[in-house]
Amino acid sequence: MGLTKTDFMRGMQCRKMLWLDKHKPRLRVIPPEIQARLDAGNDFGDCAMGMFGPYEEMTVYRPGTHIPDKKKMAEKTAQHLASGTPVICEAAFLYYNHYCAVDILRKTENGYDFYEVKNSPEVHETFVRDAGFQNYILSRSGVKVGRIYIVTHGEDENHPFVPVDITPQAKAYYTWVNSHIWDLNRMQKEREEVMVEPGPQCREPYECWYYDYCHSQLLQKRGEGEDEDL
Ligand code: SF4
Repeated sequence: MGLTKTDFMRGMQCRKMLWLDKHKPRLRVIPPEIQARLDAGNDFGDCAMGMFGPYEEMTVYRPGTHIPDKKKMAEKTAQHLASGTPVICEAAFLYYNHYCAVDILRKTENGYDFYEVKNSPEVHETFVRDAGFQNYILSRSGVKVGRIYIVTHGEDENHPFVPVDITPQAKAYYTWVNSHIWDLNRMQKEREEVMVEPGPQCREPYECWYYDYCHSQLLQKRGEGEDEDL
């Protein structure tokens, strides 16, 4: 498998984080409040699917699980693109095994606009970067991407979905994605553990779930250094 949007962003925060995700995921410690926020975001996204009326949803699970079957989802999406479905939710794309799904893909006269739903009152730069990755995969997959929106959570609960147009900012990330995606993909497959010294990247933009592991490695290394100095 190549990289997902999440893989790419985690690898850009820290190469070791991506490597650990692939080789030692059992070391992750996800704080309960983060897990709760992720779950709440999923519920808001599910509600937003109908914001443009009738839609087709592409989610397909592997039999007997709640694990998305990415290949089948991409095949189903391709069928709906070919048949001209106007609104496609969880539209999935595979490009050289790199994968992304967009929350809502909406047909226009010239191509497709896409909408990413975020359970947040404002647009953060990390959202724009996510959309930049999605734009890269969709464009490379042959989709003519028009406008790109982040759907924020508005104040009025009767009209909670507020789209914000981020097209130029998201499309500006195309070259950035292209210049890192292939190298990160090679790196994640390396057998030897990728070593990165802990630093500011352990907390920015997100607190790393391997914090305890890496910092205990660091303490051990320092202890060994002191032993050698004796
Ligand atoms: S704790 Fe820091 S060094 Fe370790 S994987 Fe996370 S970001 Fe990288």
